[in-house]
Amino acid sequence: MTATRSSPAVASVSHWFAALGKAAPAPRPPLPGAREADVCIVGAGLTGLWTAYELRRADPSLDVVVLEREHVGYGASGRNGGCVMGELSGSLAYWARRGGRERALAQHHAIVAAVDEVGRVAAAEGIDCDLHTGGLLEVARTPPQLRRLKARAAAERGWLGADAATLLDGPAAHARIAVDGVLGARFDPRPAQVQPAKLVTGLADAAERAGVTIHERTPVTELAPRLARTPHGDVRARWVVRATEAYTVELPRLRRAVLPVNSAMIATEPLDAATWAQLGWAGGETLVDAAHMYVYLQRTADGRVAIGGRGRPYRFGSRTERDGAVPRRTVVHLRERLERLLPPLAGVRVDAAWHGVLGVARDWAPAVGADPESGAAWALGYGGEGVAAANLAGRTLRDLLLGRSSELTALPWVGPPTRRWEPEPLRFAGIHGVYALLRAADVVEQRTGRPSRLAAVADRLAGRS
Ligand SMILES: Cc1cc2nc3c(=O)[nH]c(=O)nc-3n(C[C@H](O)[C@H](O)[C@H](O)COP(=O)(O)OP(=O)(O)OC[C@H]3O[C@@H](n4cnc5c(N)ncnc54)[C@H](O)[C@@H]3O)c2cc1C
Repeated sequence: MTATRSSPAVASVSHWFAALGKAAPAPRPPLPGAREADVCIVGAGLTGLWTAYELRRADPSLDVVVLEREHVGYGASGRNGGCVMGELSGSLAYWARRGGRERALAQHHAIVAAVDEVGRVAAAEGIDCDLHTGGLLEVARTPPQLRRLKARAAAERGWLGADAATLLDGPAAHARIAVDGVLGARFDPRPAQVQPAKLVTGLADAAERAGVTIHERTPVTELAPRLARTPHGDVRARWVVRATEAYTVELPRLRRAVLPVNSAMIATEPLDAATWAQLGWAGGETLVDAAHMYVYLQRTADGRVAIGGRGRPYRFGSRTERDGAVPRRTVVHLRERLERLLPPLAGVRVDAAWHGVLGVARDWAPAVGADPESGAAWALGYGGEGVAAANLAGRTLRDLLLGRSSELTALPWVGPPTRRWEPEPLRFAGIHGVYALLRAADVVEQRTGRPSRLAAVADRLAGRS
């Protein structure tokens, strides 16, 4: 791409898009009119783009068209925390109940391998997305948090043996990142981090090089068997892939398919060398704390700290946050959490704040699948673990749509979307109740140093798997 896009609207999506500056890709034309295709993909986030890329790479004769309501990476894919995690939402025990122990383990290995696959394609396609494999450090700062990390690590060892993440004691964790009051940590060396806007826009370019057609500013208003309806004309296709994640709820008859959960992020000013020396963080690990209402942090390639967490988690009627400023309360909250974790950052300037929506399935576990009868295909419900999962979903959809039976199509997450969320006002009351309980559990644990049973109540209420 030679032309560039430096519109303020695109830059306001996230710090990641703002940082692209003049390197942001030029707008792509909307759908010029009705047409036919072999595969029509709705949504140009990571799911839609990986699916399109993989299909064309596997079969260059396929006519693959992607329809995007706004622009490439407009959704969670251009706003996220950038951690390419080797994890799928849902515990191994849950997936084993769904598909048996062997298939649950195969799925675990497939999602771990997806981290490397993202890196492999980025290198092969020349996608410069600041990819860095620094691992994931999950820190405990209270005795109950430490107890949970230890229990989780023990359970993982039961499943994965030597492949499980390791436990670090307080000093070893502190030597990696100088988190205040850290008592211990779980460290997984495999996750990587990326600059999300660079990954998603680079992937779109790679998909186009592979022969995919992408139309921006083309909203799909209705889906029917083998048809996607838009104001510019209908697209008729053998397969219509729904890659709309949290925004799925805006399509007719799909309002309760997922829960759109809001997550907000802020990024500090670039830090000076003296501050970095105080923080350590030389390994560039993704940092997460073990609170029930956890926060996630990235040391960015441009020398800042980005931190994210739940702001106002859910809006009545599954309304999705699209644009608009992050509430001041959320920015203040994230800043306080940052300063508590990393006191040398007290008073640091916050340069950017943004938010996005992620999709949560009713059983808190994602689903990918295709129905040959209706020609409908889907991948959704990743929760906050969708960056690597979208790659795995793209390769799985490739095999399903090409009619190939493969290791990927046998994984337990392949199948119909799970049951729907409850109608309002039950949904609103339930989800706000869950988050209130989790917040209260954190306060109690911080104050008493003892585990709170409120979190278990919240998990039961939420139906978490
Ligand atoms: C703040 C935040 C932090 C996160 N951090 C992480 C992280 O660190 N690691 C991780 O693994 N995951 C993280 N996630 C989750 C991850 O970003 C998502 O799971 C993933 O990006 C989902 O990709 P997607 O392509 O399925 O959906 P999206 O990126 O949301 O893309 C959907 C696209 O569909 C388009 N669309 C929607 N409806 C229509 C329509 N009717 N017609 C046409 N187009 C439509 C949208 O405009 C959008 O571009 C985070 C999410 C958020 C919001």
